[in-house]
Amino acid sequence: MPTTRELFLQYQAQTSDAPMGINCVKAEGVKIYDDKGKEYIDLIAGIGVSNVGHCHPKVVKAVQKQAEQYMHLMVYGEYIQSPQALLAEKITSLLDHSLNNVYFVNSGSEAVEGALKLAKRHTGKRKIVSCINAYHGSTHGALSVMGNEFFKQNFRPLLPEVYHINQGQLDEINVIDEDTAAIIIEPVGAEIGVNPMSSEYFKALQKRCREVGALLIFDEVQTGFGRCGSMFYHQALDVVPDILVLAKGMGGGMPIGAFIANEKIMKDLSHDPVLGHITTFGGHPVSCAASLACINVILEEKLVDIVAVKNQLFQSLLKHKAIKDFRSVGLMIAIEFESQAFNFSVIRKCIDKGVLTDWFLFNDSSLRIAPPLTISEQEIRQACAAILEAIEETC
Ligand code: PMP
Repeated sequence: MPTTRELFLQYQAQTSDAPMGINCVKAEGVKIYDDKGKEYIDLIAGIGVSNVGHCHPKVVKAVQKQAEQYMHLMVYGEYIQSPQALLAEKITSLLDHSLNNVYFVNSGSEAVEGALKLAKRHTGKRKIVSCINAYHGSTHGALSVMGNEFFKQNFRPLLPEVYHINQGQLDEINVIDEDTAAIIIEPVGAEIGVNPMSSEYFKALQKRCREVGALLIFDEVQTGFGRCGSMFYHQALDVVPDILVLAKGMGGGMPIGAFIANEKIMKDLSHDPVLGHITTFGGHPVSCAASLACINVILEEKLVDIVAVKNQLFQSLLKHKAIKDFRSVGLMIAIEFESQAFNFSVIRKCIDKGVLTDWFLFNDSSLRIAPPLTISEQEIRQACAAILEAIEETC
């Protein structure tokens, strides 16, 4: 009998030569368990997904209940399905009144695709601006707005008329002009290794967009659902985008994404052509039920309120001469080392010690920490002790 590891390596498409290869059998809260009974503290939460922890009982219950009632019934937007309607109401109740219409999709990439299409359709323009070293997903449209040539070059041709500006550079925002449909930007540059930008910058972007009739799209796939210390990070920046893109933490571990706009903008997807965005599984009722439960957990357990305290604890514990920089917004944290080799050694040693961390797509000398928001003080202390040990052994 082949082992699951052998099946994984033989029959599953591989995306690198070095998968982490942990054979997971169970996950609960902040812990993942492998087939040998080894316990890991999960400091990456499936890359910013499990904000309420793995298998939160309320999310699991919502999934079970909905799966027994009905699963897929029809492509998005035709039948009335209460999990979708209730979730749309809940999310919009947490947002500025202008963001009052939700289109549910399956993933972050699809939400980005939908947002870009909506911006083009609504403005009648084609040019799109995005940021250097931004990540917005891996489908053709999302890849087109990704700001990193290494990951794009072998997949050209991509979308035409995409222009890139440096994150946070005020003197570059005039690239957004009368021909621009939208700028898409993350409120915190994530894959560059956590790059916060000022509220003033985003206000200037918004002003520029209004001047030239472009739409401002915020990709909050990573920053949303409490990760950065407010339910959605644009709220801390005090800038309301025209289109908000969500996914990852939205489903409490189930796949779901959304793009959200004012109904006056969103209605353009229903005519010229009709069915301006079609998705079979978008807003799957089980995912919507999970998402509603997940949001309620974030609110009931007041998870957002304690993010800053946990950030401080990480910051105070992770002190070492090998740490060249510590960048963070809430529980999106990067610690920078001298090189990729150093970082990869720390990550590997952390895995051995039962702590899961990772690197960033466009910054491989920085170590990623983005745990479930539910992580306890004791778990933070234990994980940081392991990281410091791994650093010490690497030095
Ligand atoms: N936008 C951002 C900011 C992301 O971090 C990601 C995923 N890492 C995406 C979009 C794409 O999401 P998905 O992988 O669900 O397609």
